[in-house]
Order: sequence, then structure tokens, then C-alpha cells
Amino acid sequence: MQKIANYIAGKLLPPASGEYIDNIDPAIGKVYSHTPDSDERDIGQAVQAAQRAFPVWSAKTAGQRAAYLYRLSSLIDANIEKLALAESVDNGKPLALALAVDIPRASQNFHFFASAIEQFASESHATSERVLNYTLRKPIGIAGCISPWNLPLYLFSWKIAPALAAGNCVIAKPSEITPMTAFLLSELCIEAGFPGGVLNIVHGLGHKVGAAITAHSDIGVISFTGGTRTGAEIARTTAPTFKKVSLELGGKNPTLIFADCQYDDMLDTTLRSSFTNQGQICLCGSRIFVERAVYAKFKQDFVARTRELTVCDPLEPESRLGAVVSQQHIEKILSYIELAKEEGGTILCGGERVQLTGRCKNGFFVAPTVIEGLDAHCRTNQEEIFGPVVTIMPFEGEDEALKLANSTEYGLAATVWTENLSRAHRLGSELQAGVVWVNCWLLRDLRTPFGGTKSSGVGREGGDEALRFFTEPKNVCIKF
Ligand code: NAD
Repeated sequence: MQKIANYIAGKLLPPASGEYIDNIDPAIGKVYSHTPDSDERDIGQAVQAAQRAFPVWSAKTAGQRAAYLYRLSSLIDANIEKLALAESVDNGKPLALALAVDIPRASQNFHFFASAIEQFASESHATSERVLNYTLRKPIGIAGCISPWNLPLYLFSWKIAPALAAGNCVIAKPSEITPMTAFLLSELCIEAGFPGGVLNIVHGLGHKVGAAITAHSDIGVISFTGGTRTGAEIARTTAPTFKKVSLELGGKNPTLIFADCQYDDMLDTTLRSSFTNQGQICLCGSRIFVERAVYAKFKQDFVARTRELTVCDPLEPESRLGAVVSQQHIEKILSYIELAKEEGGTILCGGERVQLTGRCKNGFFVAPTVIEGLDAHCRTNQEEIFGPVVTIMPFEGEDEALKLANSTEYGLAATVWTENLSRAHRLGSELQAGVVWVNCWLLRDLRTPFGGTKSSGVGREGGDEALRFFTEPKNVCIKF
């Protein structure tokens, strides 16, 4: 059985402990590889390697660093099929989705930040004829990047690329639940000729390796994506050392559907925003509010279309929903469906585990589920489920829609469907979310700020926001 290795100082190494964690293929429910169970000794080694590499890497020109990132991006493109298959097996997502979204986006992340660092400019202020201020933006040193399992290589590279482009060396930890494409990336880094120690990838458990990264005194900046509870723990542990921290956390995103919307486009897209990646995207809309005038029609059409979604072996081309990521996660999702029933909800479709036959008979499959009849303030509508489960609720008028949409502790993303331009602008301004989509969903421009408010996080990723985050501004004031 394959053993994944850490990537430290340019080499593929076993963990110091010599111990490994089982890595499970969620579509078949069986162990298929082993992940290093690393600890603070591996992080210590990675930090030393990064410290040795930093003076040379940070002294390279932006163009020289960009050249490495462009090479890595091309290698991802050249290996797209291998990487997509690995992502699908590791995570349970449909292979077609990994091929169309996850891996192309990982390549784009490196390509985008290679280009961005070449365009990145700092400010200069001529205070008077004899006084000039200018701002240097220096890399911080060693960056710690910690990512989750839902979009493994996509989100891993989204952090690593700007950190490296800005001149930092990186210690990165993928989720222990989906480590495979990060391991394959380390092989591609070797092929791309990255100097040893510039990027180090250390595998293992959050409370061991993750905690060792956030606690290490020589790691000056932490970029984290994951659950809100873990984010709070990281905020607590990093606060006394004044590390720079970016936290991209959970969500409970509202979709607001007004009667005047382009109905067919809304219906197609709402199906995607509800169930893509088995609903395991932080941006999925899990609370769907529908203006009462179109509620009955929407309910009928949406449930009919949801029933048509094929849940099957993620390697089959017709798969629209694959497996959810783990045994623990399927139990969590099913427990929320039970809670919804206890809270008075009616299951309109789905609501149960899907039992497949053959290769996937022990896999973790959940039928896409639509629930109605719940109050917006019940636990089902307040807590993040992170699975193929949505609730639908009617509303009357824009004010009520806004109030309901804003009624959770989260504030990551919101989607609005309306043809009324003024309403779109009003809601765009008033919705408590870091990202608002109007008449679209997951339409991304990598230059835009990305992140959440309230319990969905602190800080923004994307474009210049990311390059600013991974650099320390220093103002120089000269009188001459
Ligand atoms: P998680 O918080 O359990 O784990 C995320 C990462 O943190 C993993 O690599 C894990 O090993 C590590 N970790 C765990 N405990 C740690 C600790 N004490 N110190 C340091 N690192 C630690 O999250 P998950 O279950 O992997 O991911 C799902 C969550 O991620 C959902 O809540 C989802 O909404 C969120 N998410 C947010 C975004 C966003 O951009 N806001 C994107 C994707 C996922």
C-alpha cells in the first residue's frame, strides 16, 4: 500500500515518528494509502530548511520567483488526469468535477500569482518637494499554510502560491483526510526544480502538526482555511505571539430568490450552488429563501430536479454527486437530517444514506436532501452541516429576506436572484457577507477580495489582498 512522504528541504522523507495514519477512499470506505503521522520534530526540521532557503529565495527578483510558479502551473496542467483521479479517489468527489474545476484551478492559482507578483507595486507619497515617503513590502519570512479537505489542491495552492510569490518560504499542511494531491504536488515541485526548503509539505493531524505550525516562534504568518472552531483555537494560540493570521472559516450561506428573477437560470444555478461537491463547498447556499409568489413553483421544480441528480461511483462519468468525505462526516450529516425532523422539518426528497452496490457498496453516499417547514432560527438553519442538505423557506418582501439572510453567526457568501437593479445594489450593500453574487454563483475573478465576516473569518485572500497579507509594509521617509 502506498506510503505518502513529507517534502522537507527538497526531499521526500518519512515522518520522524515512523508512524502513519490510514487514508481512506470514501467511495469504497476502505484504507487505500498511509499518511505520515508527523509531529513537532518534522516541523522543526522544515523550519530549519526554510530558514536556510529564505535568504536566497527572498533575494530573487519577482520575475525569477514567478518563473518557478509558471513551471509548476504547467506541470499541473501536464498531469491533470493523474491529479484529478487522485483527488476524486482521496475526497470522493466526481472525477469530472476534479477534472473541470479542482485541478485547473490549482494550476491557475500558481499562474495567477506568478503574474500578480510581477505586477505588484508599492506606494510612494511625495509629501513636499523635499520629502518623499515610499513603502517597501518585504516578505515576512516563513509562512504556515493550513488547508481543509473539501477542495484539497485548489485551496492548498491558493495559499501557497501568493506566499511563495511574495518571497516567503512555506511550511504547508494539507488535511490529513485528503493528503494525496499535496503529496503529488511535492513530486512536481522537485521536477520543477524548486530550491530545497522553499516549500515544505508536512502531513499529519491538526492537533499535532497543525498546532506545531501555529505555535512555532519562527513562523511569522499563518494562513488557515477550515472550521470556525479550529479557527478560534488558532486565533487563541497565535494571539500572544502577535503572528499575522488570516482565517477563512465556515459558512451558512443564504440564497435569496425573488419572483422577478430569470427563473430557468436561477433554477439551474441553485441546483449547483446547493449540491456541487456534495454540498461540501464553503460557498454552497444551504438556506434557500424564496419569495412567496414563486415558492410553490420553485419547491416543485427544485425537488424534481434534485431527484434527477445521479448519486453514484465518482469515477463514473454520469456522477453528479459522489461520496461525502468520511464515515465521521456522513454520520454528522445524517444526524443533522434527524435533527431537522425533530425540529419539525419535512423532508421533501433525499434524507437518507444511499446504498450502492458493487465497488462502492461500503461508500459514504448521501441523497441530496431538501427540507421545508423549518424556522430560520432553529439549529438546522443556524449550524453548518457541510453536506448535500438544504432548507427552503418562503419570505414576503425584501426587508424580511434581508433579515432572515443575516440571521446567523456566519457571514461568508450570499446569492441574490432578482432583475431589479436597485434591489440588487441595496442587498449587495446590506447583506452581511464577504462575497455577494447577484444572478450567478461561484463566478470567480482571482483579483477580487475573498473571505468572510462574523464567524466566517478574519482577513481576505485573493489578488493584492493576498500579496499584502504575505508581506510586511515598511515606510521609508526621506528628507533631502
Ligand atoms: P478543520 O478545521 O477540521 O481542519 C482544517 C485544517 O486544520 C486541517 O488541515 C486540520 O488538520 C487542521 N487543524 C485541525 N486542528 C488544528 C489545530 N488545533 N491547529 C492547527 N491546525 C489544525 O476543517 P475541515 O473539516 O478540514 O474543513 C471543513 C471546514 O472548512 C468547513 O467549516 C468549511 O466551511 C471550511 N472551509 C472554509 C473555506 C473558506 O474559504 N472560508 C473554504 C473551505 C472550507
